[in-house]
Amino acid sequence: MSERDLRGDIPNLVSKLIQMPSVNPPGYTVNIAGFIRDWLSGLGFTSEVREYAKDKPNVIARVGRGKPVLILNGHMDVVPPGDESRWAYPPFSGKVVEGRIYGRGATDMKGGLAVIMTVFAELAPLIERQGSGTLVFSATADEETGGHPGVEALVRDGVLVGDAAIVAEPSGGFRYYIGGEKGLCQVKLVARGRPAHGSLPVLGDNAIMKLIRAIGKAEELIDEFNRGGIKLPSELMEAIENSAEVYLEASRGGSGLNLALSDFERVVGTVSFNPGVIRGGSKINMVPDYAELELDMRVPPGGVSPNQVINHLKSGLSGIADVEVLDTSEPNYTSPGETIVRLIHEGIERVLGATPKPIIVTGATDGRYLRARGIPTVVYGPGELALAHAYNEYVTIDDLVKTHDVMVYAVRRFFGLEK
Ligand SMILES: [Zn+2]
Repeated sequence: MSERDLRGDIPNLVSKLIQMPSVNPPGYTVNIAGFIRDWLSGLGFTSEVREYAKDKPNVIARVGRGKPVLILNGHMDVVPPGDESRWAYPPFSGKVVEGRIYGRGATDMKGGLAVIMTVFAELAPLIERQGSGTLVFSATADEETGGHPGVEALVRDGVLVGDAAIVAEPSGGFRYYIGGEKGLCQVKLVARGRPAHGSLPVLGDNAIMKLIRAIGKAEELIDEFNRGGIKLPSELMEAIENSAEVYLEASRGGSGLNLALSDFERVVGTVSFNPGVIRGGSKINMVPDYAELELDMRVPPGGVSPNQVINHLKSGLSGIADVEVLDTSEPNYTSPGETIVRLIHEGIERVLGATPKPIIVTGATDGRYLRARGIPTVVYGPGELALAHAYNEYVTIDDLVKTHDVMVYAVRRFFGLEK
């Protein structure tokens, strides 16, 4: 196929990818990975498969040699379709109606996958010929349940390493994400007491009452931590304001979100506090000697690490409750000044004639594993965040073509390719 044919075939490719269900759980991606390998080999490209969990293969193809290395990434799995009767068209039909392609994964993110497959196939011959620089295509597994046998394993194994990355998750044609993902800080508070008969509580030491005091104290400690002033990086402020607009738009769209701008800045800029699970005691007529709480806190990007929050809790709660760490991850973002971010920004301006809007997303994407490895990562792809995981998910052909053209611009510039 010529370049022109590849671009024109993107909608057809999206439909085909949707028609190969890769619902997670269980996250079976054998069929779709096989399809992508066949598609690549039909165009003369070899690819390799890395499988870190049964039936969850990842597909990687690379062209060119040496530095710089640019990674294009997209995940193959999708969330379940839910109640199929609520879909206007069957969720795995990939049906095209009035410029929209419908189906589970259209927005998140088989549209983006088709775009990066196409960009790779179109530009690979030029990169090959130029001989300086490597373009890596990666279709990965298991993003929707944490990406452990997907991008995380590939980064750990040194398969996905490079100088920059574009993750084609849905951002829409004129927006792009620079991260801003909050860090994870999940702990267990454990209170221990002394058992006694329920009729004589004075002889015991009630662990539930201790835990309740510990929870109140923990909330105060986090408030105090937040009052200490967490300074968000100034280079993130524009993206935070843009993001508030997006969330406000979504709330008007009836998604249930209802945030004001000031709420949003607070949400992003503070450590959140959510007691999620509580357990304790065994019998009504006994003084309980054990009680525990699972506490979920999220840490803002820039300046604070989950360990600081944990140490603050530990010292404040000493003698009241123990703090056990369940899971942590560092907050992350990519500076707007990084080359790959600037090129996407410039592409939106020059190719689309639109005003580019950098935004942040507080939830986690596979981009975190790349950023943790020090790889500047921009998230840019067709579709809208509000449609991800929704009924009647679709992607517009217009958006597919726009994001494709911007990405081609950015990749060409990244490698200094002549037209
Ligand atoms: Zn996604």
